[in-house]
Amino acid sequence: MKEITTCAFCGSDKATVLYRGTDMLFPYYTHEHAVQQCDECGLWYLNPRPDTEEEILKMYPPEYDSYVDTGKGWFLAVRRQVWKPELRRHIALAGRDGHILEVGCATGEYLNELRLRGCRNLVGVEYNPEAVRLANERYHLDVIQGDILGGHFADQQFDLVIMRYVLEHVPNPMETLREAARILKPGGAFIFSIPNPDSLDARVYGRHWFGHEIPRHFFNYPQATLKKMLAATGFELDHIDFPYIPNDWILGFKNVLLNNGTSRAVARLVDIDNPLALALFLPLGVLSGLLRASGRMHVHARRMR
Ligand SMILES: [Zn+2]
Repeated sequence: MKEITTCAFCGSDKATVLYRGTDMLFPYYTHEHAVQQCDECGLWYLNPRPDTEEEILKMYPPEYDSYVDTGKGWFLAVRRQVWKPELRRHIALAGRDGHILEVGCATGEYLNELRLRGCRNLVGVEYNPEAVRLANERYHLDVIQGDILGGHFADQQFDLVIMRYVLEHVPNPMETLREAARILKPGGAFIFSIPNPDSLDARVYGRHWFGHEIPRHFFNYPQATLKKMLAATGFELDHIDFPYIPNDWILGFKNVLLNNGTSRAVARLVDIDNPLALALFLPLGVLSGLLRASGRMHVHARRMR
């Protein structure tokens, strides 16, 4: 475990502990961590942080969500529907001849959807070797194992970089953002999704908020901090979309149950694959979207010219 003594953005050594907790997904992971907020810039970060290969492997067991087989069945059918507007937007931004990189592409479903719509220049990067193997085997995609820095891409290689739910997991957000800026063409689009610590559900659930995801989420980005980080790494913020989905209210409620001693078997019923739970929490999801305070945000930025 690595003790974090300075903020990854501003370098300040002053921080306030917001919450303490342990892993809610995998009960055999018992190490306790703090979620701290930098007193200077407002960035949220995990402390201490898993650091050795053994610790990283332990916190990403094979049954971790992103790597289970999400390429089949009704789950993929739903995701395909949810992705439709995003796919249209991304293709409009990059064009079908544009060079598109997805960082953290998991088993390659989204890149495959882009390809099915005529995009030709697609590259993926994925940390998990098994997910890379599945992406290459199932869709014959060009997926590189590693992080964005390990891709060794050329300067200004891409028209569009997509990074869905990656920035909260990386140990080096500033390096990651700088690298995204380096490999994008001037004016190129950088679109990423992250949890929203300013959200309504983060305020309501507090330590039970899904976005903490101790110990896998190393950082969370309040919008005021995020804007400064983007400006410091060569981006201008275009706009942020707030989705109208009930998922984060469900996940928070499930954490409340687990933290109050409800058995995992019962809490398992309250999940995003339960249509009843989706229906019950949908009004809160819609309300959060209307207030621009959803549990997650889709950020649209551009590399400065
Ligand atoms: Zn800071």
